[in-house]
Amino acid sequence: MPRDYDVIVAGGGMTGLITATTIAKYTNQTMKILVIDRNEEINPARKNISGWTCGDAVSKRSIDFYSKEVGITYDYPELEHKVKGVIAFAPDRKTKVSFDGEGYVLNRKLLGLRQVEDAKKLGVEFSFETESDKLVLENGFITGVEILDKDKQRKTLTAKIVVDATGSASKLRQNLPIENSFMEKQIDRENDMETTGRYILEFDRGETDTSLFDDDYCIIHLNQDIAPGGYAWVFPKSKNKVNIGLGVQKKRLVTRNQRLGKNDTLQSLIDDYISSNTSIKNYRLSSDDGDSGNSRGNWQVPVRRQNDCMVENGYVIVGDAAWLPRPIDAGGIGPGIFASVIAGKTIANALQAKDYSQSSLWNYNTEYVRNYGYQMASFEILRRFLQIVLNEKISYGMKHFLSADDVEKITSREHPSFDKVNMFNPLMLFKILTHWSLAKELRYTAKKSNELVRHSQAYPESPEGFPEWKNKLDLLLNDAYNRFS
Ligand SMILES: Cc1cc2nc3c(=O)[nH]c(=O)nc-3n(C[C@H](O)[C@H](O)[C@H](O)COP(=O)(O)OP(=O)(O)OC[C@H]3O[C@@H](n4cnc5c(N)ncnc54)[C@H](O)[C@@H]3O)c2cc1C
Repeated sequence: MPRDYDVIVAGGGMTGLITATTIAKYTNQTMKILVIDRNEEINPARKNISGWTCGDAVSKRSIDFYSKEVGITYDYPELEHKVKGVIAFAPDRKTKVSFDGEGYVLNRKLLGLRQVEDAKKLGVEFSFETESDKLVLENGFITGVEILDKDKQRKTLTAKIVVDATGSASKLRQNLPIENSFMEKQIDRENDMETTGRYILEFDRGETDTSLFDDDYCIIHLNQDIAPGGYAWVFPKSKNKVNIGLGVQKKRLVTRNQRLGKNDTLQSLIDDYISSNTSIKNYRLSSDDGDSGNSRGNWQVPVRRQNDCMVENGYVIVGDAAWLPRPIDAGGIGPGIFASVIAGKTIANALQAKDYSQSSLWNYNTEYVRNYGYQMASFEILRRFLQIVLNEKISYGMKHFLSADDVEKITSREHPSFDKVNMFNPLMLFKILTHWSLAKELRYTAKKSNELVRHSQAYPESPEGFPEWKNKLDLLLNDAYNRFS
Protein backbone atom coordinates (compact mmCIF):
# COMPACT_ATOMS: atom_id res chain seq x y z
CA MET A 1 0.00 0.00 0.00
CA PRO A 2 1.34 3.49 -0.79
CA ARG A 3 1.84 5.54 2.37
CA ASP A 4 1.73 9.31 2.89
CA TYR A 5 5.21 9.25 4.43
CA ASP A 6 8.11 6.89 4.93
CA VAL A 7 8.38 7.95 8.56
CA ILE A 8 6.15 10.01 10.84
CA VAL A 9 7.78 11.25 14.03
CA ALA A 10 5.14 12.13 16.61
CA GLY A 11 6.56 14.76 18.98
CA GLY A 12 9.14 17.30 17.86
CA GLY A 13 11.05 17.61 21.12
CA MET A 14 14.75 17.01 21.64
CA THR A 15 14.63 13.30 20.77
CA GLY A 16 12.05 13.41 17.98
CA LEU A 17 14.07 16.06 16.15
CA ILE A 18 17.34 14.13 16.51
CA THR A 19 15.71 10.90 15.31
CA ALA A 20 14.16 12.62 12.25
CA THR A 21 17.45 14.34 11.38
CA THR A 22 19.46 11.14 11.76
CA ILE A 23 17.09 9.20 9.47
CA ALA A 24 17.29 11.96 6.84
CA LYS A 25 21.08 12.00 7.06
CA TYR A 26 21.52 8.21 6.89
CA THR A 27 19.13 7.82 3.95
CA ASN A 28 20.77 10.68 2.01
CA GLN A 29 17.51 12.63 2.17
CA THR A 30 15.72 10.11 -0.02
CA MET A 31 12.87 9.47 2.43
CA LYS A 32 9.71 11.47 3.12
CA ILE A 33 9.82 12.28 6.84
CA LEU A 34 7.19 14.25 8.76
CA VAL A 35 7.50 15.59 12.32
CA ILE A 36 4.19 16.32 14.04
CA ASP A 37 4.25 18.61 17.05
CA ARG A 38 1.52 20.30 19.03
CA ASN A 39 3.52 23.52 19.50
CA GLU A 40 3.38 26.61 17.33
CA GLU A 41 6.35 26.87 14.97
CA ILE A 42 7.79 29.77 17.03
CA ASN A 43 8.02 27.54 20.13
CA PRO A 44 9.30 24.17 18.92
CA ALA A 45 10.13 21.38 21.40
CA ARG A 46 8.19 23.03 24.23
CA LYS A 47 7.13 20.30 26.63
CA ASN A 48 3.96 21.89 27.89
CA ILE A 49 2.17 25.19 28.21
CA SER A 50 4.57 26.42 30.91
CA GLY A 51 7.64 25.89 28.78
CA TRP A 52 10.70 23.72 28.18
CA THR A 53 10.60 22.45 31.75
CA CYS A 54 13.99 20.85 32.40
CA GLY A 55 17.21 21.30 34.36
CA ASP A 56 18.85 21.80 30.93
CA ALA A 57 22.13 20.11 31.88
CA VAL A 58 23.85 17.78 29.41
CA SER A 59 27.29 16.20 29.17
CA LYS A 60 29.75 17.28 26.50
CA ARG A 61 30.19 13.59 25.72
CA SER A 62 26.64 13.23 24.40
CA ILE A 63 26.71 16.50 22.42
CA ASP A 64 30.02 15.35 20.86
CA PHE A 65 28.51 11.96 20.02
CA TYR A 66 25.73 13.64 18.01
CA SER A 67 28.25 15.82 16.23
CA LYS A 68 30.43 12.82 15.33
CA GLU A 69 27.57 10.57 14.20
CA VAL A 70 25.34 13.08 12.40
CA GLY A 71 27.70 15.99 11.70
CA ILE A 72 25.66 18.61 13.56
CA THR A 73 27.57 20.79 16.00
CA TYR A 74 26.03 23.12 18.56
CA ASP A 75 27.54 26.23 20.07
CA TYR A 76 26.52 29.36 21.98
CA PRO A 77 23.69 30.51 22.31
CA GLU A 78 21.92 27.10 22.31
CA LEU A 79 24.75 25.82 24.52
CA GLU A 80 24.05 28.66 26.93
CA HIS A 81 26.67 27.98 29.60
CA LYS A 82 29.70 25.72 29.87
CA VAL A 83 30.39 23.76 33.10
CA LYS A 84 33.27 21.62 34.31
CA GLY A 85 31.05 18.91 35.77
CA VAL A 86 28.27 17.98 38.16
CA ILE A 87 28.81 17.80 41.92
CA ALA A 88 26.43 15.88 44.18
CA PHE A 89 26.47 16.96 47.83
CA ALA A 90 25.54 14.73 50.75
CA PRO A 91 22.66 16.04 52.92
CA ASP A 92 25.14 17.60 55.38
CA ARG A 93 26.94 19.20 52.41
CA LYS A 94 30.27 18.04 53.90
CA THR A 95 30.92 15.26 51.38
CA LYS A 96 30.69 15.69 47.64
CA VAL A 97 31.07 13.47 44.61
CA SER A 98 31.69 14.92 41.20
CA PHE A 99 30.54 13.14 38.06
CA ASP A 100 29.95 13.43 34.35
CA GLY A 101 32.88 15.71 33.44
CA GLU A 102 32.46 18.73 31.22
CA GLY A 103 29.06 19.72 30.01
CA TYR A 104 26.61 22.46 29.17
CA VAL A 105 23.47 24.07 30.46
CA LEU A 106 21.27 24.45 27.41
CA ASN A 107 18.87 27.10 26.23
CA ARG A 108 16.10 24.68 25.27
CA LYS A 109 14.04 27.18 23.29
CA LEU A 110 16.96 28.27 21.11
CA LEU A 111 18.09 24.66 20.77
CA GLY A 112 14.60 23.65 19.54
CA LEU A 113 14.66 26.42 16.91
CA ARG A 114 18.12 25.34 15.78
CA GLN A 115 17.12 21.65 15.63
CA VAL A 116 14.10 22.43 13.44
CA GLU A 117 16.30 24.47 11.11
CA ASP A 118 18.83 21.60 10.87
CA ALA A 119 16.09 19.05 10.16
CA LYS A 120 14.50 21.26 7.48
CA LYS A 121 17.86 21.63 5.73
CA LEU A 122 17.84 17.83 5.37
CA GLY A 123 14.34 17.88 3.87
CA VAL A 124 12.32 16.92 6.98
CA GLU A 125 8.73 18.26 6.79
CA PHE A 126 6.82 19.65 9.78
CA SER A 127 3.22 19.86 10.86
CA PHE A 128 3.00 22.21 13.86
CA GLU A 129 -0.05 22.82 16.05
CA THR A 130 -0.99 19.23 15.34
CA GLU A 131 -1.82 16.65 17.98
CA SER A 132 -0.95 12.97 17.43
CA ASP A 133 -3.89 11.22 18.96
CA LYS A 134 -3.98 7.53 18.13
CA LEU A 135 -1.94 4.84 16.41
CA VAL A 136 -3.43 3.07 13.40
CA LEU A 137 -3.10 -0.73 13.26
CA GLU A 138 -3.36 -2.86 10.11
CA ASN A 139 -2.52 -6.58 9.96
CA GLY A 140 -0.41 -6.45 13.10
CA PHE A 141 1.58 -3.42 11.96
CA ILE A 142 1.38 0.23 13.03
CA THR A 143 0.71 1.98 9.73
CA GLY A 144 0.00 5.54 10.73
CA VAL A 145 -1.39 7.96 13.22
CA GLU A 146 -4.69 9.74 13.71
CA ILE A 147 -4.11 13.44 14.16
CA LEU A 148 -6.05 16.54 15.15
CA ASP A 149 -4.81 19.30 12.89
CA LYS A 150 -4.61 23.07 13.48
CA ASP A 151 -8.37 23.41 12.87
CA LYS A 152 -9.15 20.44 15.16
CA GLN A 153 -10.00 18.33 12.10
CA ARG A 154 -9.37 14.60 12.64
CA LYS A 155 -7.30 12.99 9.88
CA THR A 156 -5.29 9.83 9.36
CA LEU A 157 -1.74 10.03 8.06
CA THR A 158 -0.03 6.81 7.01
CA ALA A 159 3.64 5.84 7.20
CA LYS A 160 5.89 2.81 6.98
CA ILE A 161 7.25 3.55 10.44
CA VAL A 162 5.86 5.74 13.23
CA VAL A 163 8.29 7.06 15.86
CA ASP A 164 6.77 8.04 19.19
CA ALA A 165 8.76 10.87 20.78
CA THR A 166 5.87 12.52 22.57
CA GLY A 167 7.53 12.53 25.97
CA SER A 168 6.70 11.10 29.36
CA ALA A 169 2.93 11.45 28.97
CA SER A 170 2.85 9.52 25.65
CA LYS A 171 -0.70 8.40 25.02
CA LEU A 172 0.35 6.62 21.84
CA ARG A 173 2.43 4.06 23.75
CA GLN A 174 -0.15 3.80 26.54
CA ASN A 175 -2.82 2.91 23.97
CA LEU A 176 -0.63 0.79 21.71
CA PRO A 177 -3.22 -1.32 19.88
CA ILE A 178 -1.05 -4.49 19.73
CA GLU A 179 -2.04 -7.17 22.24
CA ASN A 180 0.62 -9.02 24.25
CA SER A 181 3.34 -6.71 23.01
CA PHE A 182 6.83 -7.04 24.49
CA MET A 183 6.68 -3.27 24.88
CA GLU A 184 5.29 -2.22 28.27
CA LYS A 185 2.47 0.27 27.89
CA GLN A 186 2.17 1.68 31.42
CA ILE A 187 4.75 2.89 33.89
CA ASP A 188 4.44 2.17 37.62
CA ARG A 189 3.57 5.79 38.46
CA GLU A 190 3.91 5.37 42.20
CA ASN A 191 7.45 4.00 42.13
CA ASP A 192 8.95 5.07 38.84
CA MET A 193 7.72 8.60 38.10
CA GLU A 194 8.89 11.76 39.82
CA THR A 195 7.19 15.13 39.88
CA THR A 196 9.61 17.94 39.35
CA GLY A 197 9.63 21.68 39.01
CA ARG A 198 12.06 24.50 38.46
CA TYR A 199 12.55 28.21 37.96
CA ILE A 200 14.95 30.06 35.70
CA LEU A 201 16.04 33.07 37.72
CA GLU A 202 18.31 36.04 37.48
CA PHE A 203 19.82 37.12 40.76
CA ASP A 204 22.46 39.13 42.60
CA ARG A 205 25.35 37.24 44.12
CA GLY A 206 25.02 36.69 47.87
CA GLU A 207 27.32 34.80 50.20
CA THR A 208 30.17 32.95 48.44
CA ASP A 209 29.50 29.28 49.10
CA THR A 210 30.30 26.82 46.32
CA SER A 211 28.05 24.20 47.86
CA LEU A 212 25.12 26.54 47.08
CA PHE A 213 26.06 28.18 43.77
CA ASP A 214 29.07 27.69 41.55
CA ASP A 215 29.11 29.08 38.02
CA ASP A 216 31.62 26.36 37.05
CA TYR A 217 29.60 23.37 38.28
CA CYS A 218 26.08 21.99 38.26
CA ILE A 219 25.17 21.29 41.88
CA ILE A 220 22.93 18.48 43.09
CA HIS A 221 21.70 18.29 46.70
CA LEU A 222 20.70 14.88 47.99
CA ASN A 223 18.38 15.54 50.90
CA GLN A 224 15.31 13.62 52.00
CA ASP A 225 13.86 16.64 53.84
CA ILE A 226 14.31 19.09 50.94
CA ALA A 227 13.58 16.71 48.02
CA PRO A 228 12.16 13.43 49.41
CA GLY A 229 12.82 10.51 47.09
CA GLY A 230 14.50 12.77 44.55
CA TYR A 231 17.07 15.54 44.56
CA ALA A 232 17.39 19.30 44.28
CA TRP A 233 19.59 21.18 41.82
CA VAL A 234 21.29 24.52 41.20
CA PHE A 235 22.51 24.64 37.60
CA PRO A 236 24.28 27.85 36.51
CA LYS A 237 23.27 29.59 33.27
CA SER A 238 25.73 32.46 33.84
CA LYS A 239 27.26 34.15 36.88
CA ASN A 240 23.85 35.68 37.65
CA LYS A 241 21.35 33.29 36.09
CA VAL A 242 20.33 29.88 37.34
CA ASN A 243 18.09 26.93 36.65
CA ILE A 244 17.00 25.85 40.13
CA GLY A 245 14.48 23.26 41.23
CA LEU A 246 13.80 19.84 42.62
CA GLY A 247 12.05 16.54 42.07
CA VAL A 248 10.22 14.33 44.55
CA GLN A 249 8.64 10.93 44.66
CA LYS A 250 5.06 11.60 45.72
CA LYS A 251 4.81 8.82 48.30
CA ARG A 252 8.12 9.89 49.87
CA LEU A 253 6.78 13.43 50.15
CA VAL A 254 3.82 12.06 52.13
CA THR A 255 6.06 10.09 54.53
CA ARG A 256 8.47 13.03 54.86
CA ASN A 257 5.56 15.34 55.79
CA GLN A 258 4.35 12.81 58.36
CA ARG A 259 7.85 12.43 59.79
CA LEU A 260 8.40 16.18 60.09
CA GLY A 261 4.79 17.12 60.93
CA LYS A 262 4.56 19.35 57.85
CA ASN A 263 2.18 19.84 54.99
CA ASP A 264 4.53 20.77 52.16
CA THR A 265 3.79 20.48 48.47
CA LEU A 266 6.23 20.28 45.56
CA GLN A 267 5.77 24.02 45.04
CA SER A 268 6.34 24.99 48.66
CA LEU A 269 9.46 22.81 48.75
CA ILE A 270 10.85 24.53 45.65
CA ASP A 271 10.05 28.00 47.00
CA ASP A 272 11.65 27.21 50.38
CA TYR A 273 14.71 25.71 48.69
CA ILE A 274 15.29 28.87 46.69
CA SER A 275 14.65 31.31 49.52
CA SER A 276 17.03 29.41 51.83
CA ASN A 277 19.91 29.66 49.34
CA THR A 278 22.13 32.41 50.74
CA SER A 279 24.24 32.62 47.59
CA ILE A 280 21.26 33.74 45.55
CA LYS A 281 19.87 37.18 46.45
CA ASN A 282 17.19 39.48 45.00
CA TYR A 283 16.09 36.84 42.55
CA ARG A 284 13.50 37.46 39.83
CA LEU A 285 12.09 35.42 36.97
CA SER A 286 14.50 35.44 34.06
CA SER A 287 13.39 38.06 31.55
CA ASP A 288 14.74 36.44 28.38
CA ASP A 289 13.04 33.10 29.11
CA GLY A 290 10.08 34.83 30.73
CA ASP A 291 8.75 36.22 27.45
CA SER A 292 7.98 32.72 26.22
CA GLY A 293 6.62 31.63 29.59
CA ASN A 294 9.60 29.43 30.36
CA SER A 295 10.84 30.75 33.67
CA ARG A 296 8.62 28.63 35.88
CA GLY A 297 7.17 25.17 35.35
CA ASN A 298 6.45 21.71 36.72
CA TRP A 299 6.48 18.41 34.87
CA GLN A 300 6.97 14.70 35.40
CA VAL A 301 9.97 12.52 34.62
CA PRO A 302 10.30 8.72 34.47
CA VAL A 303 13.15 7.32 36.62
CA ARG A 304 13.20 3.58 35.90
CA ARG A 305 15.31 1.70 33.35
CA GLN A 306 14.30 2.09 29.71
CA ASN A 307 11.27 0.19 28.42
CA ASP A 308 12.64 -3.34 28.02
CA CYS A 309 11.43 -3.42 24.41
CA MET A 310 11.37 -0.19 22.40
CA VAL A 311 10.17 -1.50 19.02
CA GLU A 312 7.05 -3.07 17.52
CA ASN A 313 6.02 -3.78 13.94
CA GLY A 314 6.20 -0.33 12.31
CA TYR A 315 6.59 1.47 15.66
CA VAL A 316 9.56 2.82 17.64
CA ILE A 317 9.67 4.75 20.93
CA VAL A 318 12.46 7.16 21.96
CA GLY A 319 13.22 9.67 24.69
CA ASP A 320 10.95 10.07 27.68
CA ALA A 321 8.26 8.09 25.84
CA ALA A 322 10.68 5.13 26.19
CA TRP A 323 11.53 6.02 29.85
CA LEU A 324 15.16 6.81 29.01
CA PRO A 325 16.08 9.25 31.81
CA ARG A 326 18.64 7.87 34.25
CA PRO A 327 17.08 6.46 37.43
CA ILE A 328 19.41 8.30 39.83
CA ASP A 329 19.44 11.86 38.49
CA ALA A 330 16.60 11.90 35.94
CA GLY A 331 19.01 13.03 33.23
CA GLY A 332 17.27 12.17 29.98
CA ILE A 333 18.96 14.36 27.40
CA GLY A 334 22.21 12.35 27.12
CA PRO A 335 20.47 8.94 26.98
CA GLY A 336 17.94 10.52 24.58
CA ILE A 337 20.69 11.66 22.21
CA PHE A 338 22.42 8.25 22.17
CA ALA A 339 19.12 6.41 21.67
CA SER A 340 17.76 8.76 18.99
CA VAL A 341 20.88 8.38 16.87
CA ILE A 342 20.80 4.57 17.20
CA ALA A 343 17.06 4.52 16.49
CA GLY A 344 17.52 6.83 13.49
CA LYS A 345 20.27 4.66 11.98
CA THR A 346 18.28 1.47 12.60
CA ILE A 347 15.18 2.98 10.95
CA ALA A 348 17.28 4.13 7.99
CA ASN A 349 18.48 0.52 7.51
CA ALA A 350 14.95 -0.85 7.83
CA LEU A 351 13.67 1.59 5.19
CA GLN A 352 16.47 0.65 2.83
CA ALA A 353 15.73 -3.06 3.40
CA LYS A 354 11.95 -2.36 2.99
CA ASP A 355 11.31 -4.36 6.15
CA TYR A 356 9.46 -2.50 8.92
CA SER A 357 8.90 -5.46 11.23
CA GLN A 358 9.90 -5.70 14.87
CA SER A 359 12.76 -8.02 13.86
CA SER A 360 14.12 -5.50 11.41
CA LEU A 361 13.99 -2.71 14.01
CA TRP A 362 15.30 -4.88 16.86
CA ASN A 363 18.91 -3.67 16.55
CA TYR A 364 17.86 -0.41 18.24
CA ASN A 365 17.03 -2.38 21.43
CA THR A 366 20.20 -4.44 21.36
CA GLU A 367 22.62 -1.66 20.50
CA TYR A 368 21.16 0.81 22.98
CA VAL A 369 20.83 -1.57 25.93
CA ARG A 370 24.23 -3.21 25.47
CA ASN A 371 26.14 0.05 25.00
CA TYR A 372 24.25 2.68 27.01
CA GLY A 373 21.22 1.29 28.80
CA TYR A 374 22.98 -1.60 30.54
CA GLN A 375 23.57 0.34 33.76
CA MET A 376 20.02 1.65 34.11
CA ALA A 377 18.43 -1.36 35.85
CA SER A 378 21.21 -1.42 38.46
CA PHE A 379 20.82 2.30 39.14
CA GLU A 380 17.09 1.74 39.43
CA ILE A 381 17.84 -0.57 42.37
CA LEU A 382 20.31 1.85 43.96
CA ARG A 383 17.71 4.60 43.58
CA ARG A 384 15.04 2.49 45.30
CA PHE A 385 17.44 1.91 48.19
CA LEU A 386 18.48 5.57 48.52
CA GLN A 387 14.83 6.62 48.56
CA ILE A 388 14.22 4.75 51.80
CA VAL A 389 17.36 5.95 53.59
CA LEU A 390 17.31 9.05 55.79
CA ASN A 391 19.73 11.98 55.56
CA GLU A 392 22.04 10.99 58.37
CA LYS A 393 22.76 7.62 56.77
CA ILE A 394 23.26 9.05 53.28
CA SER A 395 25.81 11.54 54.67
CA TYR A 396 27.54 8.78 56.64
CA GLY A 397 27.61 6.40 53.66
CA MET A 398 28.98 9.04 51.27
CA LYS A 399 31.67 10.01 53.78
CA HIS A 400 32.84 6.60 54.94
CA PHE A 401 31.77 3.94 52.45
CA LEU A 402 32.64 5.49 49.10
CA SER A 403 36.16 4.67 47.94
CA ALA A 404 38.25 6.59 45.40
CA ASP A 405 37.51 3.74 43.00
CA ASP A 406 33.75 4.16 43.57
CA VAL A 407 33.98 7.88 42.88
CA GLU A 408 35.83 7.15 39.66
CA LYS A 409 33.12 4.68 38.69
CA ILE A 410 30.37 7.21 39.44
CA THR A 411 32.26 9.78 37.34
CA SER A 412 32.10 7.46 34.37
CA ARG A 413 28.45 6.63 35.13
CA GLU A 414 29.18 3.13 36.42
CA HIS A 415 27.67 1.63 39.54
CA PRO A 416 29.93 1.95 42.66
CA SER A 417 31.14 -1.41 44.00
CA PHE A 418 31.28 -0.28 47.68
CA ASP A 419 34.40 -2.42 48.22
CA LYS A 420 35.14 -0.56 51.46
CA VAL A 421 32.04 -2.17 52.95
CA ASN A 422 33.72 -5.50 53.46
CA MET A 423 34.01 -7.39 56.75
CA PHE A 424 37.61 -8.27 55.88
CA ASN A 425 38.58 -4.63 55.97
CA PRO A 426 39.91 -4.16 59.54
CA LEU A 427 40.16 -0.37 59.20
CA MET A 428 36.47 -0.18 58.40
CA LEU A 429 35.18 -2.80 60.79
CA PHE A 430 33.95 -0.42 63.48
CA LYS A 431 32.17 1.80 60.96
CA ILE A 432 30.61 -1.20 59.28
CA LEU A 433 29.40 -2.68 62.55
CA THR A 434 27.90 0.61 63.79
CA HIS A 435 26.08 1.08 60.47
CA TRP A 436 25.56 -2.59 59.75
CA SER A 437 22.26 -2.41 57.86
CA LEU A 438 23.51 0.44 55.64
CA ALA A 439 26.73 -1.48 54.90
CA LYS A 440 24.82 -4.68 54.19
CA GLU A 441 22.37 -3.02 51.79
CA LEU A 442 25.12 -1.16 49.93
CA ARG A 443 26.91 -4.47 49.36
CA TYR A 444 23.63 -5.94 48.17
CA THR A 445 23.10 -3.14 45.61
CA ALA A 446 26.66 -3.63 44.33
CA LYS A 447 26.19 -7.39 43.96
CA LYS A 448 22.82 -6.90 42.30
CA SER A 449 24.36 -4.33 39.99
CA ASN A 450 26.90 -6.87 38.72
CA GLU A 451 24.14 -9.36 37.97
CA LEU A 452 21.94 -6.77 36.24
CA VAL A 453 24.75 -5.29 34.17
CA ARG A 454 25.80 -8.77 33.00
CA HIS A 455 22.20 -9.60 32.16
CA SER A 456 21.66 -6.35 30.24
CA GLN A 457 24.81 -6.89 28.23
CA ALA A 458 23.36 -10.23 27.18
CA TYR A 459 20.29 -8.48 25.71
CA PRO A 460 18.93 -10.80 22.98
CA GLU A 461 19.93 -10.36 19.34
CA SER A 462 16.38 -10.92 18.13
CA PRO A 463 12.78 -10.93 19.44
CA GLU A 464 12.86 -14.76 19.78
CA GLY A 465 15.23 -14.54 22.74
CA PHE A 466 13.25 -11.82 24.51
CA PRO A 467 10.71 -13.79 26.64
CA GLU A 468 13.42 -15.85 28.37
CA TRP A 469 15.66 -12.81 28.87
CA LYS A 470 12.77 -10.77 30.28
CA ASN A 471 11.70 -13.54 32.69
CA LYS A 472 15.18 -13.61 34.13
CA LEU A 473 15.28 -9.82 34.39
CA ASP A 474 11.99 -9.78 36.28
CA LEU A 475 13.32 -12.37 38.73
CA LEU A 476 16.46 -10.30 39.35
CA LEU A 477 14.46 -7.12 39.83
CA ASN A 478 11.64 -8.53 41.96
CA ASP A 479 14.09 -9.76 44.54
CA ALA A 480 15.41 -6.19 44.94
CA TYR A 481 11.97 -4.56 44.73
CA ASN A 482 10.74 -6.73 47.62
CA ARG A 483 13.80 -5.93 49.68
CA PHE A 484 13.43 -2.15 49.27
CA SER A 485 9.66 -1.84 49.17
C1 LIG B 1 11.98 19.47 35.74
C2 LIG B 1 12.83 18.57 34.90
C3 LIG B 1 14.22 18.69 34.96
C4 LIG B 1 15.03 17.89 34.15
N1 LIG B 1 16.37 18.12 34.14
C5 LIG B 1 17.17 17.45 33.29
C6 LIG B 1 18.55 17.79 33.17
O1 LIG B 1 19.05 18.71 33.79
N2 LIG B 1 19.30 17.05 32.31
C7 LIG B 1 18.77 16.05 31.56
O2 LIG B 1 19.50 15.39 30.83
N3 LIG B 1 17.44 15.75 31.61
C8 LIG B 1 16.63 16.45 32.45
N4 LIG B 1 15.27 16.18 32.45
C9 LIG B 1 14.73 15.20 31.50
C10 LIG B 1 14.69 15.81 30.09
O3 LIG B 1 14.03 17.03 30.13
C11 LIG B 1 13.97 14.85 29.13
O4 LIG B 1 14.58 13.58 29.24
C12 LIG B 1 14.03 15.29 27.66
O5 LIG B 1 13.51 16.56 27.45
C13 LIG B 1 13.22 14.28 26.84
O6 LIG B 1 13.07 14.73 25.52
P1 LIG B 1 11.91 14.13 24.60
O7 LIG B 1 12.11 14.72 23.27
O8 LIG B 1 11.88 12.66 24.73
O9 LIG B 1 10.55 14.64 25.26
P2 LIG B 1 10.00 16.10 25.46
O10 LIG B 1 11.12 17.06 25.72
O11 LIG B 1 8.95 15.99 26.49
O12 LIG B 1 9.35 16.49 24.05
C14 LIG B 1 8.13 15.95 23.62
C15 LIG B 1 7.60 16.80 22.46
O13 LIG B 1 6.42 16.19 21.97
C16 LIG B 1 5.34 17.13 21.97
N5 LIG B 1 4.12 16.36 22.17
C17 LIG B 1 3.74 15.70 23.28
N6 LIG B 1 2.58 15.03 23.08
C18 LIG B 1 2.22 15.28 21.80
C19 LIG B 1 1.14 14.86 21.00
N7 LIG B 1 0.20 14.03 21.45
N8 LIG B 1 1.09 15.30 19.71
C20 LIG B 1 2.06 16.14 19.22
N9 LIG B 1 3.09 16.57 19.95
C21 LIG B 1 3.19 16.13 21.21
C22 LIG B 1 5.70 18.09 23.10
O14 LIG B 1 5.01 19.31 23.00
C23 LIG B 1 7.20 18.21 22.89
O15 LIG B 1 7.50 19.12 21.85
C24 LIG B 1 14.44 16.93 33.28
C25 LIG B 1 13.05 16.80 33.24
C26 LIG B 1 12.25 17.60 34.03
C27 LIG B 1 10.76 17.46 33.93
